Amino acid sequence: MKRVRVTCPQCGDIDLATTDLRGRICVETGQAEYRYRCAGCHQTAVHDTDTRTYEILTAADIYFEPWHLPAELKETRHGLVISHDDLIEFHNLVHNDTHFANALANLESAN
Ligand SMILES: [Zn+2]
Repeated sequence: MKRVRVTCPQCGDIDLATTDLRGRICVETGQAEYRYRCAGCHQTAVHDTDTRTYEILTAADIYFEPWHLPAELKETRHGLVISHDDLIEFHNLVHNDTHFANALANLESAN
C-alpha cells in the first residue's frame, strides 16, 4: 500500500495511506484540493494543491473527483441590484407582524 506524508495543521507531518486521501478538481479552473481525516487529532484537513503536488498525488493513484462550478455563475442577471436600503426595508417588513402576516397570506393566495 502506497503511503504519503502530509502536514496536519494541528499535528504536523503524518503518514497516511493513499486510500485515506480524497481529492477533487474543478473542471473549469483546474484548482485542486485534497482532504483527509487526521488519525492524531481526528480533524478533517483540506489543502489546496499546486500543479506539482497534484501530479505527485495522482502519480500515487489518488483519485481527484472532477466537479463543476455552479451553473448560476453563468446566468445573465436581470433587474435592479438590491441596495442596502432595500435590505433595511425588508428587515423592517419582516419584523412587523402585520406586514409579515399579510405577505404570507399573499403567498398562500397566489398558490
Ligand atoms: Zn492532526
